[in-house]
Amino acid sequence: MTVDGRTALTGIVGYPVSHSLSPLMHNAAFGELGLNMVYLPFSVAPEALPQGVAGLAALGVRGFNVTIPHKVAILPLLHEITPEARAIGAVNTVLNRDGLLTGYNTDGIGLLRALEGEFGFYPAGRSVLLLGAGGAARSAVAALSLAGAARVVVANRTKERGEELVASVAPHLPGTLLQSAPFTLLSDAGFLSGFDLLVNTTSVGMGGSAFGDLALTGLPPHAAIYDMVYAPLETPLMEQGRGVGLPVANGIGMLVAQGEAAFTIWTGQQPPAGCMKRAVLEGIGAATLDIVRQSK
Ligand code: NAP
Repeated sequence: MTVDGRTALTGIVGYPVSHSLSPLMHNAAFGELGLNMVYLPFSVAPEALPQGVAGLAALGVRGFNVTIPHKVAILPLLHEITPEARAIGAVNTVLNRDGLLTGYNTDGIGLLRALEGEFGFYPAGRSVLLLGAGGAARSAVAALSLAGAARVVVANRTKERGEELVASVAPHLPGTLLQSAPFTLLSDAGFLSGFDLLVNTTSVGMGGSAFGDLALTGLPPHAAIYDMVYAPLETPLMEQGRGVGLPVANGIGMLVAQGEAAFTIWTGQQPPAGCMKRAVLEGIGAATLDIVRQSK
């Protein structure tokens, strides 16, 4: 890659950003397509976000991703927000057109593409159980609902947070029956029997942590289990799901697909097939090696 006077700039704004796999994904795709573009990490503290965003616009960056803790705080700093990002209440991708900043959320489309790719699952008319009520759950509820899901139930450890999520997105998503449920119902096989898909949007599974009492035997035989967690690549939930004979997948497909969608927003082009996924898997391999080295 050669940086010259015409190189277009993209990047990720977060705090911290050092763990992000996005620079690897995007720079690999720019390189493979021979685009004169580069993707950089921008560590911006919460109190500096307005200056940071104004600075990026003034510098003429083509666009940037937004990650924790800025996905919600950035909304009032943008000129336009897509209806999906508005329904989710969070932005993860910004496009800069001559100073006009438009906010998108590609997490939802990332999830839908992953579900299609992994399971051939299409939400129209289906019932989905979501575990968790954080930012990832918000994007999942909106995407599944806008794709025609009949019913989405949010089960969260902190019940009130699940109820708040449903109350805040329901006015934007009238076509789907949206409900919240207490976490304790997850041990009830009869409750789980009503769902075609279970999605873990919580951080449970990271580093090998596991849910306690989850009655996966209750899920119908055609159901699938999607775990947004991708480190480890085989999560305890996936092991449990395999144990009851259901198809399972980790969050890599979603991570890659949300990145591919952002890439297309900035470049108008599809990234080369498999390129971003290879870069992520190589990055995760390197991160794992780092952890092993540090623990020795
Ligand atoms: P977040 O806003 O902080 O929400 C965290 C969620 O996890 C909350 O619902 C929280 O419940 C729940 N939780 C945390 N610890 C728990 C435990 N021990 N038992 C039960 N529930 C627990 O985080 P987020 O942004 O939504 O991200 C959540 C996960 O999704 C992370 O692992 C992230 O890496 C992953 N993710 C993956 C992708 C992808 O592309 N694959 C994209 C986005 C996010 P309470 O409300 O009760 O605290």
